[in-house]
Amino acid sequence: MAYNGAGIMAAHNIEPDSHEPHQPRSIIDRALAGQLLSSDEAAALIEADDLGLLLEAASALRDRVKGRDITYSPKVFLPVTNLCRDRCTYCTFRKDPWDPGAWTMMPHEIIDWSRRGRALGCTEALMCLGDKPEVAFKQYRETLKSLGVRTTIEYVHRACELALTEGLLPHTNAGLMSLEEMRMLRPVNASMGLMLEDISTRLRKRGGPHQWAPDKEPVRRMRMLEEAGQLRIPFTTGILLGIGETPAERAQSLIAIRDVHRRYGHIQEVIIQNFRAKPEIPMANAPEPSEIEMARAIATARLVLGGEMNIQAPPNLSPNDVELFLRAGINDWGGISPLTRDYVNPEAPWPHVAQLADRCARAGFRLRERLPVYQEYINDVWIDPDLLPAVQRLADRL
Ligand code: SF4
Repeated sequence: MAYNGAGIMAAHNIEPDSHEPHQPRSIIDRALAGQLLSSDEAAALIEADDLGLLLEAASALRDRVKGRDITYSPKVFLPVTNLCRDRCTYCTFRKDPWDPGAWTMMPHEIIDWSRRGRALGCTEALMCLGDKPEVAFKQYRETLKSLGVRTTIEYVHRACELALTEGLLPHTNAGLMSLEEMRMLRPVNASMGLMLEDISTRLRKRGGPHQWAPDKEPVRRMRMLEEAGQLRIPFTTGILLGIGETPAERAQSLIAIRDVHRRYGHIQEVIIQNFRAKPEIPMANAPEPSEIEMARAIATARLVLGGEMNIQAPPNLSPNDVELFLRAGINDWGGISPLTRDYVNPEAPWPHVAQLADRCARAGFRLRERLPVYQEYINDVWIDPDLLPAVQRLADRL
């Protein structure tokens, strides 16, 4: 289906800019020809006046390589623990042990939720949890001891084994991990993830959203992305829009992700996620990024990262923008759960898959399931040999 740039621009009150300098066009031409863009070029794209041109190019690049299939992963969200040593000022997920709602899942809960999720057709067990709570909380260290482990990551390993036994494929996002911790989890994970969020060190400074989040130091997060590549782990990362970064920093973050992927080939997908304000957070009054900012970032990600990259946007955080994001060049909606809510954004319900499929179809796309590891990584280079048969069995059923 041809891209209707005029339609998008009318729907979102975007006027074409007849005074557009030629530079974005030449940058786009270079991207479409497969050439590497610089940070400055990426920044010029993300701020280009002619949004229609940007979306058209990103859409064309996606169509050329990925076609018109849009994927999602049916998942169970397992918040193994919501305790966290960090305090990001946009987070409602984290708790202290004494807070109402503080929760560490017990093994029987992991088994029960995994079993119910599998019965509903899920294939992914998303292990999503706070960062290093044992460093901060004695009470939690006692919990781990009673469970027979020393560290959160050891407990996640156990949780992954339980989910595997129930027929799910784990994808762990446990915050910042060392190389040894990732090595421990690799045999029981189809893939792993860590949002870069943003490459800007400013966000760690006094008054910034990451002032009290030592695990959000960009250099440490880039190191983990690097080490995941060394370990040949299919890896998910992405950027978080609206936490105080500039458009140029968004572009620089995409370039950093592209560069680590060029070294190892392990970045299986890049998420473009928008900050959502909530009344109970310190950033309650911070503006959310607009749908146009999201579309700009998605389209720039497509052009920076190329047609082969899987580009994802969470549909529950932008329920009115499905068509716009498709036109900006995504090819994936990420995990959608028929069982569990989005514990990171509990106010944002998942879309019904049938309704999402219908909207995709009306926009000229076919929605289909995928596993938590993309097809191109299902081989013995990227998956532990003991895990590979289980992955292949599920892949054969898709
Ligand atoms: S966003 Fe993650 S690292 Fe930051 S406080 Fe929340 S759970 Fe912890």
